[in-house]
Order: sequence, then structure tokens, then C-alpha cells
Amino acid sequence: MAKFHVAPGLEQRLAQMIAPQVHDIARGVEREAKRLAPPTKRWITVPDQHHHPTHIGANGQERPANLRFEINSMDWDMRHRGLGPVTYMNAPRDETSRAVANIKNCRCRTQSIPDGIARNISTQPPVVTGSTVTVKVVVQGDYVVEAEVGTVYPGNLTAPGTFYMARAAAAVAARR
Ligand SMILES: [Zn+2]
Repeated sequence: MAKFHVAPGLEQRLAQMIAPQVHDIARGVEREAKRLAPPTKRWITVPDQHHHPTHIGANGQERPANLRFEINSMDWDMRHRGLGPVTYMNAPRDETSRAVANIKNCRCRTQSIPDGIARNISTQPPVVTGSTVTVKVVVQGDYVVEAEVGTVYPGNLTAPGTFYMARAAAAVAARR
């Protein structure tokens, strides 16, 4: 089998020519990923007379919506509920965390940030290397990978993935 080259340098010139189209496709993936990315949630501590010092430290903690907050455990929960040093809560007063002392009388709340992940998604300029065009759609920031694929916490608490990047690429590919 012989490999046929039309003309020296043609593949490179073709790559330069199609780079803008590849860039457009990537920007389509970016738009779709921003639409599909989950919001983030922020823990807002409301101090109460029962004093959850563990919640003071949690104030402002921000996580993708599919993940859990990480709250320092209370001694009672560690002794009686078998929890480790960290209690993993989807939200304040989350009984699935298996905490008792750490959720009792809690008045904390959460704030949703719709573009918490979307604002960190961007498309880089096309890079032409020989006859190859590469465009990267990137998402930067804490927990963006776990937001995509999910995670498992100690105690076998699972957080499902949302697959916003994979679904964005699939949606754009299906349109073409
Ligand atoms: Zn609280």
C-alpha cells in the first residue's frame, strides 16, 4: 500500500484552511457544555444557639451540585455513628450523611450559583501542527472533574457524575 500525497505542503495548507471550522465546532461544544454544566452550591452558615462550630468553618464552601459538602465531624457522631473526621453532606441537615449531632438544630442553608462551573469553560485557539488541527475546550477550577464523572466518599456514599463535557461533545457530534 502506497500513501498518496497530492502535493508537498498541501495537507498543511488544508489544515490551516479548516482550522476556523474546527474552532467553530469546538465553540459549539463549549456552548453546549455551559448549558449542561451543573450549578454549584455554597454553604451559608447561620449561627444558632446550639453552636455547631463545625458549621462556622463551612461557611462559604462551594461544591458542584452533584457533590457533597465536607464538614468537620462532631465527636458524638464519630463515637456513636462511626463517622470519620469528615462528614459528607449534600446539604445542611442531610440525614444521608449519617450524622445526628452535626445536623440537629442546624439552620444553615445553601445558595445556588447557576454558572458556578459554566463560567470556567472556555475554548482555546486552534493549534495547527503539520496536517493536524487541535482545538481544546477546557474547564478549569476545583472539583470540575468530579462534577463530570462523580466520586465515592468514605462510607460508600456515591456522587453521580453529570458528564456535561461528554454529553456536550456527543450533542455537537450528533448535529453534524
Ligand atoms: Zn448549621
